[in-house]
Amino acid sequence: MRIDLHTHSTVSDGTDTPAGLVLAAADAGLDVVALTDHDTTAGWAAATAALPPGLTLVPGAELSCASTLDSPRPVSVHLLAYLFDPASPALVAEQTRLRKERRARLRAMAERMAADGLPIDADEVLGRLPADSPAGRPHLAQALVRAGLVSTVDDAFAQYLANGRDYYLPRRDTPVETAIEMIADAGGVTVFAHPFARSRGRIVSAETIAALAERGLTGVEVDHPDHDEATRAELRGLARELGLVQTGSSDYHGTNKTIRLGAETTDPEAFAALVEKASGYQVALG
Ligand code: AMP
Ligand code: FE
Ligand code: FE
Ligand code: ZN
Repeated sequence: MRIDLHTHSTVSDGTDTPAGLVLAAADAGLDVVALTDHDTTAGWAAATAALPPGLTLVPGAELSCASTLDSPRPVSVHLLAYLFDPASPALVAEQTRLRKERRARLRAMAERMAADGLPIDADEVLGRLPADSPAGRPHLAQALVRAGLVSTVDDAFAQYLANGRDYYLPRRDTPVETAIEMIADAGGVTVFAHPFARSRGRIVSAETIAALAERGLTGVEVDHPDHDEATRAELRGLARELGLVQTGSSDYHGTNKTIRLGAETTDPEAFAALVEKASGYQVALG
């Protein structure tokens, strides 16, 4: 069984439509794929409808969260959530707020670029995105590529958009403890995405992961392209100590990143443990 539990579609910042993504997953030889767009469940229906025979879809999302457990200055945390009730009112309200905040923030970043004389038009960048979609830096990165300022999305991050670069602006993300509770209340399970990906900015401590495990976190993403071997070994030890489920996933974004579907995978026993703990939604069978 080949299982990839972290992918993005055009509903957030990937480049495959939800239908295209499940077809690509089957082509890549996957048996199970999770759709985890940032802060939205809008792709679930189309992905389910397009499921090819033999492929299992795990409906999910990647929630933009913040932790202040280590210091008052928030650390960005991405929380993978699976098999939760997408109509849960508290969750819907928070995700709607966050998507609004994402658009306002992307507009502010684009306007700063324009004010500095870069050929970026905020209305054009936002106008390309469906209403209420989770706008993100990759959308601005693509605009920088279109404008000819950089040749790739990666270069756009390196020169303009990465945390600490000139045009990076923060967001008010959901406190991670709140998000874990919201997903548990909606019958879902949570996995801390790429917890020790130091290249993305500040990371939380092992103590914080222990505290979140106490609050109901179900697992940690160990095998992720942004974790080196030493980091994976460290996380495996921590997960064993805390009794957390260990997952592995590609974090596929289509052509917005170079990683391929199924480049990292999850053990079938770990996947079964997640499914067993979830009660808010069912996997879909193709
Ligand atoms: P945002 O949610 O707007 O803060 O943007 C974060 C998203 O940008 C992540 O989900 C990744 O998809 C993408 N990203 C972050 N760093 C890079 C990078 N160096 N190159 C390409 N994509 C990146
Ligand atoms: Fe992304
Ligand atoms: Fe992430
Ligand atoms: Zn992701």
